[in-house]
Amino acid sequence: MISAKKPANEAERLAALERFEILDTLPQQIFDDITLLASSICGTPIALISLVDAERQWFKSRVGLEATQISRELAFCSHAILDPGQVMVVEDATRDARFHDNPLVRDAPEIRFYAGAPIVTADGFALGTVCVIDRATRTLSASQNDALRSLSRLVGTLLEHDKRSRDERRFDTAEARRRIEYLMVMAMQSLDLKAFVDLDYIYRFVNQTCLDYFAMVREDMEGKRVIDVLGREVFDRIVKPGFDEAFAGRVVSFESSFIFPRRGRTYVDVHYMPARDSAGKIMGVAVRIQDIQARKEREKQLQGAIDLLEKKTLEQQRFIHVVSHDLREPINTIVNFSSLLAQDHADDMPPAAQRYVRFVHAGGERMKALLDDLIDLLRLESHVIELRPVDLNRVMASVRDDLSAAISRAGARLDWDALPVVPGDESLLRVVLQNLVANGIKFARKDVPPVLRVMAASSGKMHEVRVTDNGIGIPADQLENVFGMFKRQHSRNQYEGTGLGLSICRRIAEMHGGRINVESQPGNGSCFRLLLPIAPIINTKESTDARH
Ligand code: ADP
Repeated sequence: MISAKKPANEAERLAALERFEILDTLPQQIFDDITLLASSICGTPIALISLVDAERQWFKSRVGLEATQISRELAFCSHAILDPGQVMVVEDATRDARFHDNPLVRDAPEIRFYAGAPIVTADGFALGTVCVIDRATRTLSASQNDALRSLSRLVGTLLEHDKRSRDERRFDTAEARRRIEYLMVMAMQSLDLKAFVDLDYIYRFVNQTCLDYFAMVREDMEGKRVIDVLGREVFDRIVKPGFDEAFAGRVVSFESSFIFPRRGRTYVDVHYMPARDSAGKIMGVAVRIQDIQARKEREKQLQGAIDLLEKKTLEQQRFIHVVSHDLREPINTIVNFSSLLAQDHADDMPPAAQRYVRFVHAGGERMKALLDDLIDLLRLESHVIELRPVDLNRVMASVRDDLSAAISRAGARLDWDALPVVPGDESLLRVVLQNLVANGIKFARKDVPPVLRVMAASSGKMHEVRVTDNGIGIPADQLENVFGMFKRQHSRNQYEGTGLGLSICRRIAEMHGGRINVESQPGNGSCFRLLLPIAPIINTKESTDARH
């Protein structure tokens, strides 16, 4: 007897056989039908669906044979699977060198004829055969050969199909189990209190957060009536009406405050959601309670801050009112009467008195200018800007009109290129340009008539407006200082001013979400650069303050 060699891919073949989970399974009608067909088509008393395991040949289905398995060494199929593409036919085993002394040939069941069509998997492994056996010698017709092949292909397809549906079922159950786990985790580990209450007002499920808030263990709540846990008063007044609405199919949400043990009174957001079974019938209510105590406290703090802000704004407005009316009036009196004195009564006064009156007048004028700038600055703080398209050419024309006296007094030249339309607050942008132009005229070099030019460029996200002059310039170490309040480089005798103009300009630029800076060559002029966002985020007083 010549025992069959092992196929070259034996290890993988056995692994494949394992994956099909077919060995030692119960008989199945469909496989029995196939062996019945095989035996009747081929006219043999024996037909088998055999699977070749490591040491044995096991029969998934058999006709005309008692044994359920035989040793692999003796099996004809061990030879048949060596060539998965062929039906192996042995017409007379007694004349075949491989089988003539095989005990299955020599003794019962005295095999003479064998034909086996390999069962091949989709990935090419021959797991076993569909075979027919006879005790008499015989031949296999071409059509019988084809039929045997078809039946073995059918078995292969059935095995693949069974495996696939088993895999899918397994995936579905694993997936379902995972989903339930996720849901449990979500319910159990939520920061919110979660509970399920059935139609008899009994807690059926509570999560850990719920137990923590109520300082209870699971047995204290689950299976207990809500009324016994929360008390009749809360149950009758708040909980039951809400549950009854949810039982009627509506989602109920409300804010309330509960006294929790160890936590005291706590503000909560309560949601009762109708819970339905898979048929859509309401079976209880899903309760979700969010602790909003921290949010409530923050709201209270915020309201406090808003109240304070409103109070301060009111105080500021009152202050501006007092300053602008009550202070301006005496200053005007000083300026006007000192002017009258100087004009109408100069002759009545000795020269020293005339000088003093001039001092008083000049001081009054300065005070008036300072007051105007201060009021402008204070007003800015409570000004809420509204951004609209502003044509800077028009603004410049009005600046030139306003400053025409100063321009002609100084013999100045003021020109501007085509300027853009920018989003902004027109009256505030006018203040900026007027200040910059006025400074350019004011800080001129001795005997050099001021030449001022306003130019614009847009780069990326910003409009850039440049105001250049040919004046005295600013020392490098003072370039930032000039934007500070009351920061002046010169005495009043040299140049008039309050030292507030540029700080007002900077504030206005910031209110537009922009900025302002200066470059300068001392003795050779300055260039102020106003940068305004092309697409500004409205920079109201509050958002500006938040950045500081
Ligand atoms: P004021 O003009 O009332 O003094 P500003 O805030 O407008 O106040 O300016 C602050 C200081 O910056 C000025 O006193 C001056 O020293 C300097 N400065 C402003 N503009 C110019 C300019 N165009 N050229 C030279 N120096 C300037």
